Amino acid sequence: MPDRLVLLGSKGGPALRPGGPWPSSSLLRIGGRKIVVDCGLGVTRGLVDTGISLKALDLIFITHLHSDHVLELGPLLHTAWTAGLATPVGVFGPPGTGHYWQRFCQAMEFDIEIRIVDEGRPDIRELVSIVELGEGQVVEQRGLEVSALRVDHPPVTDCFALRFEHGGKSVVFSADTACFPPLADFAEGADILVHEAMLEEGIERLVARTGNGARLKEHLLASHSFAQEAGRIASEAGVRRLVLNHLIPADDPEIGEADWIAAVRKTWAGDLTIASDGLVVELA
Ligand SMILES: [Zn+2]
Ligand SMILES: [Zn+2]
Repeated sequence: MPDRLVLLGSKGGPALRPGGPWPSSSLLRIGGRKIVVDCGLGVTRGLVDTGISLKALDLIFITHLHSDHVLELGPLLHTAWTAGLATPVGVFGPPGTGHYWQRFCQAMEFDIEIRIVDEGRPDIRELVSIVELGEGQVVEQRGLEVSALRVDHPPVTDCFALRFEHGGKSVVFSADTACFPPLADFAEGADILVHEAMLEEGIERLVARTGNGARLKEHLLASHSFAQEAGRIASEAGVRRLVLNHLIPADDPEIGEADWIAAVRKTWAGDLTIASDGLVVELA
């Protein structure tokens, strides 16, 4: 299987609407590794739909603990376990990831205990290891290097952009962030930069629809980036391809791919992908 990025869930935020896209999750295949980045609702379904066996789950990274990035981490691991997972899985996430996992296992204690006894399964709590992230290099394994950069996503302080490198290829995920100039250095020369993006004209309508108007708008403006800001970071970093992801709004019928392209073309002239659920980006 060639190296590739699969965008499993492409919307920003946790709310679901009929026919709309699903929250954040991606599958990165690089150097033979299968790496899941973020576990928003729908990640398990998305992975199964790509045709990969859940038993082959290997590495999982969580950028931050907002629910649209972590809600389905426990259910993914548990479902992989019932699908026959028998090899260790490493989960890397911000401080608090261990607490989430411990409490998830407690919530599912009845089922976990009974399957160990009744079905002879290994103890899931021993298969999964949690490593809490800080800045800098977080993984160096068999040619795979992963590093993390703290980004600007108030009021969340532990939110990390991630850079994956293997055999001269590199993919960077911005995580959720307001426009954050140091990301340009962090993403320098990457083959793919997956950057979150908002579209200005969609924000007013989104806020009107969602109901908690002023506070939501304040959060979006303080904590997320506009498409043209993502384009500027990509240009400064000199990446080969920009993928706009974690789209806000993602399900406004009046906003289409052409609107995203028009916004980002003000600052980015290179290869461009606008994410949608299930879209595959080859890592040439
Ligand atoms: Zn988010
Ligand atoms: Zn967030």
